[in-house]
Amino acid sequence: MGLNAALKVPTTAERPRDNGHALVGSRCGQCGATSFPARAVCHRCGTAAPAEHTFAATGVLLTYTTVHVPRPGLPAPYTLGQIALDDGGPMVFGQVRTDGTEPEAGMAVRVRIGAPSETPRYWFVPERFAG
Ligand SMILES: [Zn+2]
Repeated sequence: MGLNAALKVPTTAERPRDNGHALVGSRCGQCGATSFPARAVCHRCGTAAPAEHTFAATGVLLTYTTVHVPRPGLPAPYTLGQIALDDGGPMVFGQVRTDGTEPEAGMAVRVRIGAPSETPRYWFVPERFAG
């Protein structure tokens, strides 16, 4: 990809990050590396413009922590988790919402996508709550 073509690739902030049901990132056609959010250049092999890819809406909670410092849109305490998506997508970080019970490492989770104006835009719930 030449410079002129590269300049026409939308920036990361301009690309879709979800499709209303799942997270959307990129998957490199050369090496298979995945990224969320999408990248303009593959972080593993340097290929330009990896293809947009919709990741699995389900995954496994690897680890989590409870945060006691509020942020805009996130009153404390809230829980942040590291999730391995089921289709081998990238590990993603996000809020984990439960019914007040303590999350468990290894539990199945499902992504939820909020309204465009919502903060955070996406979060994860235990699969048993997903219905
Ligand atoms: Zn690559």
